[in-house]
Amino acid sequence: MSKKITIAIDGYSSTGKSTVAKQLAKKLGYIYVDTGAMYRAVTLYAMRKIMVTDNKVDEEAILRHLAFISVKFIYDEDLGYGIIHLNNENVEKEIRLMEVSNNVSKVAAIPEVRKMLVKQQHEIGKDGGVVMDGRDIGTVVFPDAELKLFMTASAEKRAERRYAELKEKGEDVNYEDVLKNVEERDHLDSTRETSPLVKADDAIIIDNSNLSKEEQFDKILSLVKEKTEA
Ligand code: C5P
Repeated sequence: MSKKITIAIDGYSSTGKSTVAKQLAKKLGYIYVDTGAMYRAVTLYAMRKIMVTDNKVDEEAILRHLAFISVKFIYDEDLGYGIIHLNNENVEKEIRLMEVSNNVSKVAAIPEVRKMLVKQQHEIGKDGGVVMDGRDIGTVVFPDAELKLFMTASAEKRAERRYAELKEKGEDVNYEDVLKNVEERDHLDSTRETSPLVKADDAIIIDNSNLSKEEQFDKILSLVKEKTEA
């Protein structure tokens, strides 16, 4: 049997990280962890408790509440991966709303929030056989991951995909706002002080601006094989 490795998938927003990560986990029988969902769940908590207003985040209030925020994945047999729960409530749908996307990068920049979630991510992935996607997986969470991918595509391409997804879910959005959100999150995620989004030196860049989903998956699968069969 081939060995179970850790696969870290980082990159910009809406590059299809989670789609690839889910596909890979299914194919390999690995655990899939969407770390963005964890930051989104904490953001949702803060928004519900009015700790986020007019685009401002009340950092101190969030810190006072950290002990009361539980973010967990509960395994779904049918889907084959864990669904995000905030204090035991399934929040998978709500965390994908544009309003949450608009605030998440500010909450994710708070070092204590990152510390809490990274600790949990370590625990989930400690035995390997995991595909984790996020922004700092190959640099901070699992710097020793056997395979690191860094996914990218043009901001316009990503906004087009995101826009189509949101429309399909019935959200009333316009393309310009989605593009603005993609660009703003890129900027905030890349320039924050704690664990900014940067490519790990040993990460392999996957630019999928012009790759079909199938081409991309085949390419990644062959990279996995190189590592597991080495
Ligand atoms: O992956 P997704 O786009 O759902 O992530 C939402 C946000 O969570 C990102 O824009 C980023 O601000 C934050 N995030 C992070 N570190 C991670 C995963 C996500 O800062 N590992």
